[in-house]
Amino acid sequence: MGRGSVEGAVADSGAEVVTGEICPVCSQKTLALTEREQEIPFFGKVLLFAMTCSGCNFHKADVECAEEREPARYSIEVSGSDDMSIRVVKSGQATVKIPYVADIEPGEASNGYVTNVEGILQRVKHQVEVIRDNDEDAAAVDKAKALIKKINRCVFGEDKLKIVIDDPTGNSAIISDKAVVQKLAAHGRAA
Ligand SMILES: [Zn+2]
Repeated sequence: MGRGSVEGAVADSGAEVVTGEICPVCSQKTLALTEREQEIPFFGKVLLFAMTCSGCNFHKADVECAEEREPARYSIEVSGSDDMSIRVVKSGQATVKIPYVADIEPGEASNGYVTNVEGILQRVKHQVEVIRDNDEDAAAVDKAKALIKKINRCVFGEDKLKIVIDDPTGNSAIISDKAVVQKLAAHGRAA
């Protein structure tokens, strides 16, 4: 399948693509919707959705579990380079926290994706780099530099940190025996 009009990332494994939809941002009929299934070992099937506008470059992606799941908090202590390849499913509604380091909050711009621990750390690092390069407060810049060093050390297995993912929709997970799972109440706090 794949009609070639959508980015290569979804061109494999039977993505369904609908083109010519109305874009919510620029209101032109230049939006492509894609949907595809992915089987995640030791987890189950997830559906990946994406909206991409060729007119204004609007892009939104999200992921949803095929089976309904309970609101949950997943946490894991990352303590070695082997942990970098642990699969992570993060929906657009999830909050990713690295206690004492950084948060990725859900919001209009928050995408859902399937990645691994290293992918999460790279995204956090990118956020911190924006602070390092733009913040006018010297203390904030110093803190950002220190955090980037810490993340880099973790990626190489030379330091430890904790990743916490809260998802009130239950569509996120850290897929590892090392991960700790807690139920979340409907208001989004750990039970
Ligand atoms: Zn658009």
